[in-house]
Amino acid sequence: MATETANPAAISVAIVGLGIAGATTALGLLSRGLSVKIYERAAGVHEIGAGIGMSPNAERAMLALDPRIHAAFRRIATPNTEDWFQYVDGYHDAGHGDGEAPLFKMYLGTRGFEGCRRADLLDELAKLLPDGCAVFNKELVQIDEATSGQKPMLKFADGTSVEADVVLGCDGIRSRVRRHVLGEENPAAVPGYTHKFAFRGLVPTAKARTRLTEDKCTTRYMHLGQDGHVLTFPVAMGAMINVVAFVTDRGAWPGGDKMTLPATKAEAARCFADFGPVVRTVIDLLDDKLDKWAIFDTFDHPAGTYVSPAGTTCLIGDAAHASSPHHGAGAGCAIEDALALATALEEAQAAAAAADGKEKRQVLRAALAAYDAVRLERTHWLVESSRFTGELYEWQVPECGRDPVKCLREAEARCHQVWDYDVGEMVDITRRLFAARLHRGVVLAIN
Ligand SMILES: Cc1cc2nc3c(=O)[nH]c(=O)nc-3n(C[C@H](O)[C@H](O)[C@H](O)COP(=O)(O)OP(=O)(O)OC[C@H]3O[C@@H](n4cnc5c(N)ncnc54)[C@H](O)[C@@H]3O)c2cc1C
Repeated sequence: MATETANPAAISVAIVGLGIAGATTALGLLSRGLSVKIYERAAGVHEIGAGIGMSPNAERAMLALDPRIHAAFRRIATPNTEDWFQYVDGYHDAGHGDGEAPLFKMYLGTRGFEGCRRADLLDELAKLLPDGCAVFNKELVQIDEATSGQKPMLKFADGTSVEADVVLGCDGIRSRVRRHVLGEENPAAVPGYTHKFAFRGLVPTAKARTRLTEDKCTTRYMHLGQDGHVLTFPVAMGAMINVVAFVTDRGAWPGGDKMTLPATKAEAARCFADFGPVVRTVIDLLDDKLDKWAIFDTFDHPAGTYVSPAGTTCLIGDAAHASSPHHGAGAGCAIEDALALATALEEAQAAAAAADGKEKRQVLRAALAAYDAVRLERTHWLVESSRFTGELYEWQVPECGRDPVKCLREAEARCHQVWDYDVGEMVDITRRLFAARLHRGVVLAIN
């Protein structure tokens, strides 16, 4: 069994999972002087071959967490040629230049909401981690966590185990840590199918240019339609276009626990056969062999808390609040989580040092409780609003239908609630909540 840290006041943090949540949380904690190890089940740094966009709130959270994270994203962020997110009618041709009717557009700010390849982002983040910080081929299978005294112990599939003061579950949508925190029998322990799936692919821009307008190749577009919608945006410094083609599926997901199933371009083409020529061309540019991705989320059974009953394990990112991707903000909210948690644990580290490590367990409980309190409402809302937005983009919201004015009103209000989030205020509130929780914990302990 591995152990750590001789200094009794030092807080050791074990992070399960090296995705965007794990990497950014680790960097935020390291830059605040905490001791961190990441345990990742894969053999190395890995991400899927697709794109990701970072909304303005995500960029502000990166800056506050560790400016090197923001610089890493900026190195690979691909500019849109316009600062506007274009929404078009992808279903009915209406004689617009390339056969689409523009519906509305939303201002993104200067160089706002830019995309990149996921793998490029994770590689850039992993480069910032010190040697030995991440350990690979470590699949967490169990956490033993007592309500008093001992540190939580992580057990891995290879038979090894390790102790840490705090365990952070950054292990994604099928989180093992979530099942531990919420209980195996809890319906909230596993995500549910949103009755949408998506075909995803990266199309070389040079290939797309032969069949699409320049504008389509270089800026962010949402093609709305009945029971389906298609998002496109440039990534890889303009060398590729990220395509995500969503389809409503009234049945059950046939893949069971598997999040992806093999598919073909012919199947995708059938799903979008009634759409206009631009959407059909976008689909035709995809590879012949594709994957289709089930869209799961935590809407049906949200977690009532992200912290274990023992108070020393908590959930971050998709493990906490897996969301459908219609706000393009799941990873961004994971980075907000990372900032809140890094703030709370930095406060905890200072409080533990002031008490020579004697109050460590209490300060950790106060830190995770503060994190929980500051993140629950926002992240529950994100999951709910993202579902709603997916329905809005597929003309399934009865009050809005396909009326562009009503759709814009809803989309704009909701997007700005994501984008305009005040991460500085979140940090201040986290500090205040930590102080209040710690004080209450001490009072309770004395009584
Ligand atoms: C189609 C689609 C488009 C999206 N687009 C956007 C977007 O544009 N912008 C945005 O902000 N978000 C977007 N999202 C959401 C975003 O992808 C996720 O919110 C984000 O990737 C979650 O990161 P994570 O680190 O929490 O989880 P993950 O990326 O899933 O990482 C979890 C890590 O934990 C590891 N792991 C799992 N189990 C174990 C275990 N037992 N032991 C050890 N390691 C383990 C995994 O191997 C993995 O490395 C999109 C999602 C989808 C589905």
